[in-house]
Amino acid sequence: MFRTRRVHLGRVATRHPHLTLALAALAALLAAGCGKAGSPPGKGPAASALPRYQVARGFRLPDSPTWTRAKQRGHVVVGAKEDQPYLGERDPATGTYSGFDIEIARMMSASLGLPPESIDFRTIASANRETALRNGQIDYYVGTYTINAGRKKLVGFAGPYFLAGQSLLVRRGQKHIHGPEDLAGRRVCSAAGSTPYQRILADYPQAILVSYDAYSVCVDNLLTYQVDAVTTDDAILLGYVAKAPRELKLAGEPFSEEPYGIGVPRGDNALRFALNDALEAHERNGDWKKAYEATLGLSGVPAPRPPAIDRYPAS
Ligand code: GLU
Repeated sequence: MFRTRRVHLGRVATRHPHLTLALAALAALLAAGCGKAGSPPGKGPAASALPRYQVARGFRLPDSPTWTRAKQRGHVVVGAKEDQPYLGERDPATGTYSGFDIEIARMMSASLGLPPESIDFRTIASANRETALRNGQIDYYVGTYTINAGRKKLVGFAGPYFLAGQSLLVRRGQKHIHGPEDLAGRRVCSAAGSTPYQRILADYPQAILVSYDAYSVCVDNLLTYQVDAVTTDDAILLGYVAKAPRELKLAGEPFSEEPYGIGVPRGDNALRFALNDALEAHERNGDWKKAYEATLGLSGVPAPRPPAIDRYPAS
């Protein structure tokens, strides 16, 4: 799924030989989903802290072609991210996914009457989400997926279930970057097909934009001095900071609104409405907050109030 990594250690090595080795080791650790030894919140969510979701008995949604197929199969197939700490992370040793988005996916499965333990998670990069939903590769997608008008022409969105904002990640020693206007002439990395990538391209044309399929590759590039900043949602960047607090920090304030939705095939309004009801029910019964505290809350931000659901009409 990931594009080939382009890390030009040679050039950096001449400038910072020892630092380069240390940072390359850290980059490898981050890529493997582990915190640096000794760095405080390096652990993932504790399984015991996660809520258990009640599987709806006798639930039926015959008007939804997606649900009908999933029911026949016996489980849902969900698109997700695998390299976003506390949101969507895949343990390479066990293949298990964890994080707030993963919990949202599990809640939804339970509400659709299908066991959350048997979800088939598939890693899908930002640039490939609409295609995956349109060609039936996945039933729904939960992975820091911003709801916007352009995407609504291609897919449907339940939610939002969380509100993030675009921000900047820099090396701890960086003193010159305080906001997107400071990116002029500097290298900034983001994921192809993402809203943060598009915003830099449109509003900050002086920045030198570098893109990969996944944000973890951008973070590797930042740690090895290939780029000066990484840009995406604050919720994602805070997870990387929590894993390497001595090397990384956020710069400045968020400069956009990124409401996260659950992507569904466009036209499957029955599924979208059912997921909106399910989100509201899990927000009301405390599952949402418990799930947040056991996952995204570990990156240091207390549980906010979930945003209001956008129940836009059938399309
Ligand atoms: N929320 C933004 C988006 O949907 C950035 C995060 C991502 O790429 O998943 O494009």
